[in-house]
Amino acid sequence: MHETSIVLSTISIVEEEARKHGVSKINSITICIGELTCVEKETLRGCFDVAVESEALAGAKLIIEPIAAVFRCETCGASLERKQWSTTCPKCNGGNMRLEQGRELYVKSFEAD
Ligand SMILES: [Zn+2]
Repeated sequence: MHETSIVLSTISIVEEEARKHGVSKINSITICIGELTCVEKETLRGCFDVAVESEALAGAKLIIEPIAAVFRCETCGASLERKQWSTTCPKCNGGNMRLEQGRELYVKSFEAD
C-alpha cells in the first residue's frame, strides 16, 4: 500500500464530490482504514498536507478512523478480534474462520462550509 496513491485518490474523490455539490471550501475529510491495510497513518497525514494543492482543500484536516480487524467463524458465527485469531474457532473448533473487517480503505465523508 502506498500512502501517496491513497492520498491522491482520496483527494480526487473529494474534489469531484465537492464540484458536484458546488462546495468551495472543505474543512475536513474522514477516511476509514482497516487495521490490516498496513497504512502508516503518520505518513498518510504527511502526504496529505503536501498533496493538497487546490484552494478548496487547503487547510483541510485529515481525520483517520481506524477499523479493528474482526474474524468470524462461518460455522457458529463467533467473532474474534485480531489478538484472539487462530485458524480454528475457539468456540466450536471449526476451521472456517473468515476475515469480516479490517481491510477497509475508503473515504467516509467530508465536511464543508
Ligand atoms: Zn465457531
